[in-house]
Amino acid sequence: MEQQRETLLIVDDSRLQRAVLNEIFSSNFNILEVSSGEECLKMIEEKQDMIDLVLLDLVMSGMDGFDVLKHRQGMPEFKKIPVVVLTTTDTPEVQTKAFELGASDFISKPAEPAIARLRIGNILKTNRRLNNILQKREELRIRSEVDEMTHLLNKTTAEHTISHILLSSPEGLHALFAIDIDNFKAVNDICGHKMGDHTISVVAGILASHFSGSDIVGRIGGDEFVVFVRNITTKEAIYEKAQELLDAILDKEGLSIPENVTISIGIAFTDPYETSYTTLFQKADTALSNSKKSGKQCFSEYGVSSPVSDATLKNILLYTQSRNVASTLKFAHSYPDRLVKISSLAEIHYAVMDKNNHVPAVYIDVSESKDDGQKIWEELSHESLAQSVPIIAICQESNLTQVRNAILSNVISDLIFEPIDVESIKRRVKKYQTHDDIS
Ligand code: GH3
Ligand code: MG
Repeated sequence: MEQQRETLLIVDDSRLQRAVLNEIFSSNFNILEVSSGEECLKMIEEKQDMIDLVLLDLVMSGMDGFDVLKHRQGMPEFKKIPVVVLTTTDTPEVQTKAFELGASDFISKPAEPAIARLRIGNILKTNRRLNNILQKREELRIRSEVDEMTHLLNKTTAEHTISHILLSSPEGLHALFAIDIDNFKAVNDICGHKMGDHTISVVAGILASHFSGSDIVGRIGGDEFVVFVRNITTKEAIYEKAQELLDAILDKEGLSIPENVTISIGIAFTDPYETSYTTLFQKADTALSNSKKSGKQCFSEYGVSSPVSDATLKNILLYTQSRNVASTLKFAHSYPDRLVKISSLAEIHYAVMDKNNHVPAVYIDVSESKDDGQKIWEELSHESLAQSVPIIAICQESNLTQVRNAILSNVISDLIFEPIDVESIKRRVKKYQTHDDIS
């Protein structure tokens, strides 16, 4: 493979010297030039990635070569670039001082072209070799810490990293999620191992995208993951996150994984001064078993007997054809509200009658309906649901027939208009939750 031309930065306050050096090196290298120490530092800050070696005059007015070398010590990116100093006074004292400050070599002025090119060539070769070694070492380090299939942290690294955080901030409140894909063996059996692998990667991607860079997300086994969130302020934020994960995987919006894939979650919070990862994981894993035993696709907290989600979730039903409406309403609601999309009006009846299901409200979107909602309202008026649950109509404001049909239906408790104003929904949500009168 052809070696790319490397770039030298010449730092010399003498125009003549710069011209001489240019003459010597320009046939083999790209050349950048500056005429002072200050300009050198600025150039390094701006173009560090382009510069392979610096030829630095030691004696300059203003910031001299020694000052530049001293500044370089505090600039990690500059320290990666070798520096060859140029001087007329190459006494042992000057040389020693320059070497002590990190110079790689010396060229005495006037420079002998063939020797100067050879020395620079040798330094660049050594530096290339060193960079290759460092790059390979970094690649090996990353490879040894990361799970190859999902690019999440692997089991050992996740455990070490979490243990380290637990030991270094024992006073904080932290949360550990243990997560396992439900019925994953069936994915392998029915759809094949490749689809199994793909499903693991997709679930891993969802986990990674729902947590921030300071959270630890790892794959600890076949279809098992952990997520560690440090220094949390409220447990509710963690419940909300768990519900978001369950919903994201249940909805599968834009995900190419089998329809029946869901996950179960166990959550453990740290006790003050609890520093053992093993103990914390055992608790999260016990909570995960609890979720599995309770029917899967839910989350449980260690020490709480029934899954958190079953006990506290408020399922707000949404009947709509519009993705836009669904995502806007989803945005307006947060845990413990959970927006459940339904595809038939009959589902409302079953959901409201189900004693284990808390349904505080139902949204019916007629904004895209061809008959301006007439059939929908007729069907719902037979159901006599209006007494048991508030029904909120979504209409287009400009479509007066839609609005009139909704109001005359005698079914609705409230009316909202497309495009939906998220803030106004948030204000009303509390009323829906308490079944108050909605004005
Ligand atoms: P449960 O709902 O109780 O979790 O049941 P499950 O079927 O998901 O069972 P379990 O979690 O115990 O099984 C995980 C399976 O994942 C077992 C193993 O065959 C499979 N598996 C483990 N590693 C991989 C992998 O890297 N790729 C694929 N495709 N499958 C794997
Ligand atoms: Mg599983």
